[in-house]
Amino acid sequence: MFFDIHKHTENLDREYKNALINIFPGQLDKISRNSNTYFSICCHPYYVNTLPDFDKLEKYLTRQNVLAVGEVGLDRLSQDFEKQKDIFEKMLFLAGKYNKAVIIHCVKAFSEILHLRKKYTETSWIIHGFRGKLQLAEQLISHNIYVSFGSSLVNPPDKITETVKNISCEKIFFETDETDINIDNIYRNFANIRNISLNELCDRVYKNLTMVFGEIKCSEH
Ligand SMILES: [Zn+2]
Repeated sequence: MFFDIHKHTENLDREYKNALINIFPGQLDKISRNSNTYFSICCHPYYVNTLPDFDKLEKYLTRQNVLAVGEVGLDRLSQDFEKQKDIFEKMLFLAGKYNKAVIIHCVKAFSEILHLRKKYTETSWIIHGFRGKLQLAEQLISHNIYVSFGSSLVNPPDKITETVKNISCEKIFFETDETDINIDNIYRNFANIRNISLNELCDRVYKNLTMVFGEIKCSEH
């Protein structure tokens, strides 16, 4: 089973299996209470000046099929970094209040992320689209933060190969994000570089999923 921990899609009229679908605040009404699709809901740092209705956001955070807050985070290359920090902290607080995981977008702000982690320890954090060096991965993992690999595993640069070969598999996930890459291929590339079987990798990631989200419904395909 290949679970996609972070996926964007325009087509929200169908169900998705084995995926966590990212929903922007303007799309909240698309979340059906009875849907078998899992969602993460967010205040992306790109949209720091068009804030959502937080009361509405909170109502949706009570839904069982909303597994995470995200993607939220900090992007030093985007606008209003200080305001981003305020919103991010608000979202971290809400994640704690509703016991949701946090899918984090982080660009050049890892020291802030690690600093905030000391204050907000109770929820699981996942850095999405990780493309950093082994040393950074290890630092994050030592703070009990997961990392998710995506398109960087297609033709990976040496630093990613080094990370993949040595990272603790107890703290990894995989994602397609905005790409149309098949999630299976991302798992395959990791398994090849790591020199482990695909089955072993899938079993490990399934264990990681249950550590973060408890028993969730997944299906073989
Ligand atoms: Zn994304």
